[in-house]
Amino acid sequence: MTATTIFGKIINGEIPCDKLHEDDHCIAFTDINAQAPVHFLVIPKKPLASLYDCLEEDKNLLGHLIYIGNSIAKSKNLKNWRTVINTGEESGQTVFHLHIHFLAGRKMSWPPG
Ligand code: AMP
Repeated sequence: MTATTIFGKIINGEIPCDKLHEDDHCIAFTDINAQAPVHFLVIPKKPLASLYDCLEEDKNLLGHLIYIGNSIAKSKNLKNWRTVINTGEESGQTVFHLHIHFLAGRKMSWPPG
């Protein structure tokens, strides 16, 4: 059902995004409500609702998403960043299409809220 999410519409080109990268397997774009000076998302084109829904067949895809995010972060000359994957409502997930947050450009605190 993820085709009906806002990210499904971004993948389909129905709504615009500030695209940083696209290939056969994923898209990366700037988060519309940035929580840090740099905040972008990497999402698979495959309609996976969350990390919970990933299977063994998705192992390479998951690695690809992280690799692409790392490449984008390095291309921005970043050396420090935080990656976040919210899984499920209680974790803070609001869009049920798998996405990896990459946040950078400010000091991060721990534990997260
Ligand atoms: P999460 O709370 O982990 O599900 O994260 C969803 C993220 O998607 C939030 O950080 C939102 O700001 C972001 N978001 C929602 N709609 C858009 C959009 N149209 N373009 C870019 N980012 C979006």
